[in-house]
Amino acid sequence: APSSAPPRLGADYASRFPELTVPWRAAAFPSPEIVELGEDLARELGLDPAWLRSDDGVRFLTGAELPAGAAPVAQAYAGHQFGGYVPRLGDGRALLLGELTDRAGRIRELHLKGSGPTPFARGGDGFAALGPMLREHLMGEAMHALGVPSSRALAVLRTGARIHRPEALDPLPGAMLVRVASSHLRVGTFQFARSLDDPALLRRLADAAIERHAPELLGADRRYLGLLDAVIATQAELLAAWMLVGFVHGVMNTDNTTISGETLDYGPCAFIDAYEPAAVFSSIDHGGRYAYGNQPSIALWNLTRFAESLLPLIAAEARDTGGAEEDAESLALAALDRFPQRYGEEWGRGMRAKLGVERAGVLGDEALADVAGAMLAEWRDRGVDFTSGFVALGAAADGDGSAYRELLGGVPGEWFDRWLALRPDAARMAAVNPLRIPRNHLVDEALEAATAGDHAPYERLLEAVSHPFGPLPGFERYERAAPAGSRPHVTFC
Ligand code: AMP
Ligand code: MG
Ligand code: MG
Repeated sequence: APSSAPPRLGADYASRFPELTVPWRAAAFPSPEIVELGEDLARELGLDPAWLRSDDGVRFLTGAELPAGAAPVAQAYAGHQFGGYVPRLGDGRALLLGELTDRAGRIRELHLKGSGPTPFARGGDGFAALGPMLREHLMGEAMHALGVPSSRALAVLRTGARIHRPEALDPLPGAMLVRVASSHLRVGTFQFARSLDDPALLRRLADAAIERHAPELLGADRRYLGLLDAVIATQAELLAAWMLVGFVHGVMNTDNTTISGETLDYGPCAFIDAYEPAAVFSSIDHGGRYAYGNQPSIALWNLTRFAESLLPLIAAEARDTGGAEEDAESLALAALDRFPQRYGEEWGRGMRAKLGVERAGVLGDEALADVAGAMLAEWRDRGVDFTSGFVALGAAADGDGSAYRELLGGVPGEWFDRWLALRPDAARMAAVNPLRIPRNHLVDEALEAATAGDHAPYERLLEAVSHPFGPLPGFERYERAAPAGSRPHVTFC
């Protein structure tokens, strides 16, 4: 049963990695107030939602009063931001509160975002506005419901402070997010550890990552190469999952690329509406580096930075197991070379499911590439909404092609009859193709209303995207594409 006493919070990362952390406390906020609390997630973590809502609970959630033994820290990391290396980034407005063990026995980290400036703030104010914190909460819940590996928000609190942002004329309500992730290790954490030129530290960090995320490698001969391979595999799965739901992360810097394979750091992210590989929503991504269609190759670029960081360990273990140190680079390159194939397999598996043609032998790799390629080209030409496109195909699989023809505003290409002849499984399609995702115009509407003090649209939208599949009576407007002439969606961190 959930406990009503303050939870125990471990300080495992803080105590093992003093070189990678700075002990720090959250800023004091005069009147914090919970606006979102994930009650199911709280129970999953062994926390009592009623206690979290109490004054003691709010002091816990804001880091104002932590259980004995807790040691909150700001984490150091480096990172490539838009391709340029920044040797010292770190949690500028965030803190790792500590670890707890959930009811399934898994270690989960609690992390604050918007908790005040740290030594890594680099000129930032250390705070967060309500809109972006709600966006992170909404996106994490939507991704979780869609089955995409993700960090999640346990809570969003208004801090009572007002903060200034260049994109807004008036001060904005300040907020904090309490984030849950299986770890906050990033490629940038390894880049930072590597830059300290301390091989023992790098090894301890890699061992900690293996313990948490790839325990099957403990005691293996070539465990650092194994770690690289495991991270490449989970990132390939993650990227395929993003692409198949139309998610654009927006800031795929190496400091936002996780070792866990979970989606982390929802900043200027969005779901595509019309299918468009060049789609960009972030106000700061001028060159389109992190456009929807670029994401898999950016992930491989980031993984290459991970491989570079691990290279001294891979070389040492090659030597220890009777190989040559020089083998390390070719071993790492061979592992990286497997990314495109792994990504392709995952994407193919998911696309076959979305098209209702999973039965073995029905649609081989080349045929899938032809059919899906022609379909996506048609969608791009006609500006077809990605989410609605699959829903309309589901109806076609069920015998009614009119919704698809209407969406297309014309006659489908030859691929369509070829696909229908495969007798796609409409029930299976309905189980994997979402009806309700965080559509951009709805996100704008909900975050604007919340910023103005009305949380009702946000609550409705959260309910909608928490149940993406199958009919949800009363939520039909959440299933429709943006009305024609909607203003372009631009996101801010
Ligand atoms: P992001 O693009 O969200 O991954 O953030 C990049 C870096 O900027 C991280 O080191 C953040 O901690 C830091 N950062 C972002 N916003 C702020 C802020 N308002 N105050 C201080 N640091 C920030
Ligand atoms: Mg970040
Ligand atoms: Mg961010």
